[in-house]
Amino acid sequence: MAHKAVFFNFSRWGDEGRDLVSSNIELKNAGVEVVFAPDTLDEAHIPTDRDFDIAAVFMDSKVDAATISSLPNLRFIATLSTGFDHIDLKTATEKGIVVSSVPAYGENTVAEFAFALILALSRKVCEARARIRDEKGFSNDGLQGFDLAGKQIGVIGTGRIGKHAIRMAKGFGMRVFAYDVYHDEAFAKEMGFPYVTLEELLSISDIITVHCPYLPSTHHLINKGNIHLVKSGAYLINTARGAIVETEAVVGALKGGILSGAGLDVLEEEEQIKKGGVSGPIQELLAMPNVIVTPHNAFNTKEAALRILDTSLQNILGFIQGTPLNQVKPEA
Ligand code: NAD
Repeated sequence: MAHKAVFFNFSRWGDEGRDLVSSNIELKNAGVEVVFAPDTLDEAHIPTDRDFDIAAVFMDSKVDAATISSLPNLRFIATLSTGFDHIDLKTATEKGIVVSSVPAYGENTVAEFAFALILALSRKVCEARARIRDEKGFSNDGLQGFDLAGKQIGVIGTGRIGKHAIRMAKGFGMRVFAYDVYHDEAFAKEMGFPYVTLEELLSISDIITVHCPYLPSTHHLINKGNIHLVKSGAYLINTARGAIVETEAVVGALKGGILSGAGLDVLEEEEQIKKGGVSGPIQELLAMPNVIVTPHNAFNTKEAALRILDTSLQNILGFIQGTPLNQVKPEA
């Protein structure tokens, strides 16, 4: 059977990425026609030509029920990401569409970014740069930071990325605490950290870093009801998914001094920001001087991109050969 794979909004992967996909010999041998579509895949961008059975998408696509229903030939979705909350897995599964993600592509990449945010906050890197660039000064008044060594870090989610974050934290001489629904006791023993409850983690951590997936069970895991438990003056880092943390709760905690700062690579309101015209708590958050917001960029290194594409191509081949790899299914 002939296959047609459309790679949506592929420009982010650069020429190197395009070459990697278009020159893949295994896809060619399998007779897969490869097409690069300029747009994302979502309800507003349903391609005129809908004869493809394979869609390769990134987080910027929104493959919801309406989109899926508009694509009668669709049989496989390869998301070029670890997270898959931009795909309606329930509808896809009901329609017999297989979905695969990239479970691992070098989780050091995201953990390194979490530490980039931590260090930027702890050592006031953005303020120091602005002192020289914008204020044309060279005084270090008001730029005193704090050491990471000896501080307590609470890691939510001790999966692939969380484990790297823990190793890095240990390298900085930090005391690690973790919360996860699944306890990897062997790893905890090896690294010398205890698992604690979420409530305990919030109350003892100088830095809280989020590394669990976004699931119905992790929606607003940190919220208006439990943010008061956070240790006074703590910092919150989220490089996982925006809606794990309730924006309104974070804004309230920053205003009330519960949180001293936040480093957020992901936000509940990512779509709203992309469309422009932000308002409400998110507008306040973006304007706060002790908050660093980055545009969902933690995964974005050259090395990680090539690994993501490589695994995605294997996922497509796995589907074609009838042995799907890295399949994701709706939460039971
Ligand atoms: P993983 O599956 O290896 O680990 C996730 C961990 O979270 C597991 O140990 C799991 O038991 C735990 N978990 C599940 N439900 C939980 C809950 N209710 N409370 C606490 N812990 C829970 O995933 P990973 O590779 O470490 O990635 C984690 C997340 O990071 C991804 O799901 C993705 O959303 C996000 N991510 C973000 C970027 C970015 O660019 N910002 C890039 C890659 C991944």
